Amino acid sequence: MRNGSTNQSGKILATSEEFVPTAFHLPGELPALPLDESEPVHWQVAMKRAIRSSQQLRKAVGLPPDSAEVLLPEGKLAGERDFPTFAPLEFLARIQPNNPDDPLLRQVLPLPDEQVEQAGFAADPVGDLNALVSPGVLHKYEGRALILTTSACGIHCRYCFRREFPYQQTGSRKEDWLPSIEYLQNRPDIEEVILSGGDPLTTTDEKLNQLISALENIPHLQRLRIHSRMPIVIPQRITEELVKRLSSSRLSVWMVIHANHPQELSESVLLRTTHLIDSGIPVLNQAVLLRGVNDESEILAELCRRLVNHRIQPYYLHQLDRVRGASHFEVPVEAGLRIIESLRTVLPGYAVPQYVHEEAGEKSKSPILDNTREVKS
Ligand code: SF4
Repeated sequence: MRNGSTNQSGKILATSEEFVPTAFHLPGELPALPLDESEPVHWQVAMKRAIRSSQQLRKAVGLPPDSAEVLLPEGKLAGERDFPTFAPLEFLARIQPNNPDDPLLRQVLPLPDEQVEQAGFAADPVGDLNALVSPGVLHKYEGRALILTTSACGIHCRYCFRREFPYQQTGSRKEDWLPSIEYLQNRPDIEEVILSGGDPLTTTDEKLNQLISALENIPHLQRLRIHSRMPIVIPQRITEELVKRLSSSRLSVWMVIHANHPQELSESVLLRTTHLIDSGIPVLNQAVLLRGVNDESEILAELCRRLVNHRIQPYYLHQLDRVRGASHFEVPVEAGLRIIESLRTVLPGYAVPQYVHEEAGEKSKSPILDNTREVKS
C-alpha cells in the first residue's frame, strides 16, 4: 500500500491522491448528505470518496465558495498546498448544513487564517524529530515507544500537530516496519508499543496482522496501544476481523480514539466502540481543546457524559500543540482551567479528563494545574 507523496515544496502529504484515488472528481457526483449510516460502504470505499478540496467541501455543506482573492490559481487555499483537505462523507453527515460555525466543520475546513504567522508556532511543536530513534520509531518516554505506522489518515484535522511531519524522511513510508521491529527487539526496557501515524487503522487488516504478529513475537512487550481517529470518522473500519484479531492478541490491547465534540459520537460510532469494549478492548478518548469547537464547559461535559455512558474513559484534554497554521484554534490556558474546574463540579471524577500539554524533551505529558487553588490537607 502506498501512503504519501511529495508535493512541490518537498513535504509529505498525509493522504495523497496516489494513496487513495478520488472516486468522485466533480462535486455534483457526491452522494447526497445526510448519508444513511445504517448501510455503510466498505471503509476503503469511504476513504476513496472522501472530499479533497475546500471548495468541494464548502459546496457539500451548503456554503458559498471562497472569494477569488484568497484562492490560488488551482482553486485551493494556500494552506491546502502542504496539508490538503480530506474529509470523509461519514463525518460530514454529522455537520449541520449551511452553518459555517459548525464545530465539526471547523475541524476540517481550511481557512485563510492558516496563513497567519504567529510567534511560537512551529512545524514540529512537540519535538518529534528529536525523538526519532530509528526509522519510523519515536521514543520519548520510559517503557513506551511509538511506531509511525503510516502517514495516511482518515481525515485531515486542521489543528494536527503532525500536519507538516516529514513522513517520507522518517522511514514510516515503507510499511515493512523492519527497523521498528529491530529497535524494539533490542530494547528490553520497552513494555508498551503505541501504533500511531498518521492513523494506524488506515492500514489494511492484513498488514496490521503482520505488524501485530511481529510485535507479539517480541517477548518483553506486554501492551499494544492503538491511537486512531478512524472509529470516529469512518466507524465501519472496526471490522469483525479487526475486533477478533485484537481481542485474541497475547498483548493487552488498548484503543485510544479521538473525538472533540459530542456531535461526533453518532449511533454508528457508539455501536462499534461498544463492540470493541464488549470484546475486551478498553477504549479511551483524547480530545484537543479548540477555539470555536469545544471551548465551553457544557460542550465538553456533554462529550464526557456520552463517553462514559458508553463505557469510554475520557483520558486526555490536550492544550493545543502550537503547530504552524493552527494558531486560530488556540484557547488560553486560563480558560481551559476554568472549563476543567467546571467539569469537576458536574461530573464524577472518573469522567473528567486530565488537562495536559506536551513539551518537547519532557519525560511525560505535563498536567496543567491551577496553582492558585488552595491545597487542602
Ligand atoms: S489529528 Fe490524528 S487523525 Fe487528525 S490529521 Fe492528525 S494524525 Fe490524522
